[in-house]
Amino acid sequence: MSDRRQERSDRRCTSFHVLTLFPEMIRQGLGESITGRAIARGLISLEAVNIRDYTLDKHKKVDDYPYGGGAGMLMQAQPVYDAWRAVAESIDRQGRRGSAARVIYLTPQGAAFCQDMARELAGEEDLIFLCGHYEGIDERVLEEIVTDQVSIGDYVLTGGELPAMVMIDAIARMVPGVLSNARSGETESFGNHLLEYPQYSRPEIWHERRVPQILLSGNHQKVEEWRLEQSLERTGRLRPDLYEKWAEENQEYFIRKAKRQERARRKMLRNAQKEQQK
Ligand code: SAM
Repeated sequence: MSDRRQERSDRRCTSFHVLTLFPEMIRQGLGESITGRAIARGLISLEAVNIRDYTLDKHKKVDDYPYGGGAGMLMQAQPVYDAWRAVAESIDRQGRRGSAARVIYLTPQGAAFCQDMARELAGEEDLIFLCGHYEGIDERVLEEIVTDQVSIGDYVLTGGELPAMVMIDAIARMVPGVLSNARSGETESFGNHLLEYPQYSRPEIWHERRVPQILLSGNHQKVEEWRLEQSLERTGRLRPDLYEKWAEENQEYFIRKAKRQERARRKMLRNAQKEQQK
């Protein structure tokens, strides 16, 4: 089999299922651009399930006052649980294990989302996202169905839809085949604890600013070296925490660099001595 065909047959679809009160937000938010094309190509699938469709309340109500008082309304357990069960059963019918699929509740109280988490979740076949609204969701259903609680940052949003879209976008990019150039997922910021180097496109001179000469040299090794130096400089300046991690894991880089600098210093000395002897 050719490499290309082998790669295609190795790929399997990652299915995202979103439990939400606003399914159109999810469909519209992810139906365009790279995620939209990945859906069209069958590399990922997206299902937005309206929790309201599962309420047993005759007025289609899904929320109620919290016991003990307090501000705002709470999403009730029953519609959330029944929506989850319907999704799990539909996954079962497709020959996968729906009740074993990870259920991610988007909440400001969860673990902070990051690139490593996106990479890890991209290995799952099915991911169910649960979006809260109002003051959140009745704790009992969370205890019963949720496997992961994830936050996209230390601030409070009105609902879990934007966080779910943020996560799905970042996870989808890690699914093989979704990015046209598989390497770009690796070399981007956070790929190896480093922020990405600066990039330039045509024209060569814009507003009297030149593209760095090294990038026009055609010397791939030199270009790679320059990019690494730029990434290191940028990461050290903007994210010293990430720089520390990289430096810890890549001590041999600094040893090699120090040796290179020492060789260059000795060469300069020798040349200077030769000049003096002339
Ligand atoms: N009362 C909740 C608390 O203090 O933890 C906040 C509820 S918030 C107004 C409504 C919903 O938005 C949450 O249930 C959650 O799904 C979502 N949400 C808000 N901020 C979020 C964040 N930073 N990360 C992930 N989800 C968030």
